Amino acid sequence: MTQSLAYIFQNQKLLVDEHLQLPRVERLARDLAVHQHDHVIARDLLEDEIVPDGYQLRPIRELIQVWSSTEFLQASRALQLLEWRRNHKFCSHCGHATEAHSTEYAMVCPACAYRQYPRVQPCIITIITKGDDEVLLAKSAQNKGNMYGLIAGFVEVGETLEEAVQREAFEEVGLKLKNIRYMSSQPWPFPSNLMIAFHAEYDSGEIELQLEEISEAQFFKFDQLPEIPFKGSIAHSMIMQIVGNNKL
Ligand SMILES: [Zn+2]
Repeated sequence: MTQSLAYIFQNQKLLVDEHLQLPRVERLARDLAVHQHDHVIARDLLEDEIVPDGYQLRPIRELIQVWSSTEFLQASRALQLLEWRRNHKFCSHCGHATEAHSTEYAMVCPACAYRQYPRVQPCIITIITKGDDEVLLAKSAQNKGNMYGLIAGFVEVGETLEEAVQREAFEEVGLKLKNIRYMSSQPWPFPSNLMIAFHAEYDSGEIELQLEEISEAQFFKFDQLPEIPFKGSIAHSMIMQIVGNNKL
């Protein structure tokens, strides 16, 4: 019988062997196909199930630093599909128990036919530069370490991405921006965000912190950066792209 490459999760931790490789397993009825036509599955490891010998549960945030982006994207998709299935066991319209659609990623209500699909939450993240050699980095109020990141936040209902960039920058650090340009995007499964990256230039205003969100923010010279987010995160690659390009 063909074995499937398995993303087996328990509380956002993934089952891997000592070399951080994924197990291959025989497919169970409860498994979820990560893609429709290949042998890659996602499975929840239930609380009372034992971790097999030679395997361990590792946080997916740790694995992003050692994996390729393809591996991370697939793990991210597996995790989000499992969460979606777990959170949509009942119809949000009439409350009846749902059933998984046989060919689509949809949880279908047999009573009222309402369908619930996996959703992503759009979230903007912005790198703000001033002149040719300064970048704004901010420390999150929740972060007790010394890491400085970028301004980010969820897109609100009825808002364009560019408006979300302006609003978050104004709310969090009191700055107005200009020349907002799209850079790239990255799915981020904590729990199901799509990070949409922008570069913007400082336009006007003095830094004024929203203290519930940001404990410190300042413009840093490109050659005097503080500790930045880890490799594999979109913030890291945005900073490298802007600072790296300008150093050349
Ligand atoms: Zn229903």
